[in-house]
Amino acid sequence: MPEGPSIVILREQAAGFVGKTIARAEGNSKTVDFDALAGQKVLDLRSWGKHFLIQTPAAALRIHLLMFGSYRINERKDSPPRLSLEFEDGEELNFYACSVKQIDPDLSVEYDWRGDVMSELWDPAWALKKLRAAPDMLVCDALLDQDIFAGVGNIIKNEVLFRIRVHPLSTVGALPAAKLRQLVAQAREYSFDFLKWKKAFVLKQHWLAHTKKICPRCDIPFHKGHLGKSKRRSFFCTSCQKQYPAAVALKPSRSDSKPRSQRTPPAS
Ligand SMILES: [Zn+2]
Repeated sequence: MPEGPSIVILREQAAGFVGKTIARAEGNSKTVDFDALAGQKVLDLRSWGKHFLIQTPAAALRIHLLMFGSYRINERKDSPPRLSLEFEDGEELNFYACSVKQIDPDLSVEYDWRGDVMSELWDPAWALKKLRAAPDMLVCDALLDQDIFAGVGNIIKNEVLFRIRVHPLSTVGALPAAKLRQLVAQAREYSFDFLKWKKAFVLKQHWLAHTKKICPRCDIPFHKGHLGKSKRRSFFCTSCQKQYPAAVALKPSRSDSKPRSQRTPPAS
């Protein structure tokens, strides 16, 4: 699934369409008024988390590439497009196997860019506030929560938790304050590393945990599981990624060997 940084790359690749007028719109989306799009000028192209947004005076289009969506600029795939835009100069923007929704042209109605990890308006204090309001949430779910970290997907989740040495089944409220701030800071920092590596076609080479079998710090096998509410794949090391609070009911791991008195109590 394309994560926030990949949508930023799409936005940058499509930037040349800003200011152009749509000559023809078609596709197999059931929710778009294609006829009304013809003659509309593209005012702006934006991204919010995993959403790509095409703004015209009459409407805005929200495109979510879901699990298997793709796009082509001035090219077509063999499969029928969900949305195909042809411009007056003959250039084309085509989207496949994605979700397209027509939304209010005033994007501020639906979007607050303070919640988008890739935005210059990203507000870490706001993310911390939302996290503190959900102390029982597992950190593996918190990172994937688009209301807190718009743009973060499963790769970023796994790599951030490995970086900050936190077990995915830790609860938000049990993390020490400094760890929680690290979680928020790394959600953004890793996303920008992702963007830089993806542009250089070296993203996978930099994965330390995601899809990996051996922990590069401890040289022991990673654990793998479909964890949390989202049941997305987690790759983690039970030796160097600490669980907060220490697991009681779950199978004990080496990191649980501290005496009870040293364990971090849940936040009130
Ligand atoms: Zn390890």
